Amino acid sequence: MLDRKVAQLLNEQVNKEFYSAYLYLDFSNYYYQEGLDGFGNWYKIQAQEERDHAMLFIQYLQNNGEAVVLEAIAKPDAVLDNLKAPLTEGLKHEQYVTGLIHTIYGAAHEVKDFRTVQFLDWFVKEQGEEEKNAEDLIKKYELFGGDPKSLYMLNSELSARVYTAPSLTL
Ligand code: MG
Repeated sequence: MLDRKVAQLLNEQVNKEFYSAYLYLDFSNYYYQEGLDGFGNWYKIQAQEERDHAMLFIQYLQNNGEAVVLEAIAKPDAVLDNLKAPLTEGLKHEQYVTGLIHTIYGAAHEVKDFRTVQFLDWFVKEQGEEEKNAEDLIKKYELFGGDPKSLYMLNSELSARVYTAPSLTL
């Protein structure tokens, strides 16, 4: 059995990861609607990754004999009124998620639950990558987004992203 607070935070993270998937699906839909199918593809795959994260938290809870409680997933609340908006909202969201992971990490460390700490190590590293990806997208958009030809090339680059399963297995 896990510490009650740690188990609760892990359960809450399941919902946060599904919300992330929902948010990125919203971004994906926005870009498809705007005709930028490459950006749409990039965020559709990002949404798949977030679903994978949720499933990993579920699996970890189940491996530890914990009940999984699924709560309602909130409506995506980012205002998408220009092509750059999803990119900046995405970075903000990843920074928020990093904070959530760090909170669980801290709670697990406090009760010397080093197994959970080890499980979360992958997510700590993953968040570093997520923030870097989000920052890179913003930089590229700032460099190339203002010119139609360059935007077309960037869109083509993002259309090449393919889904890969998470490197963490439980
Ligand atoms: Mg995630």
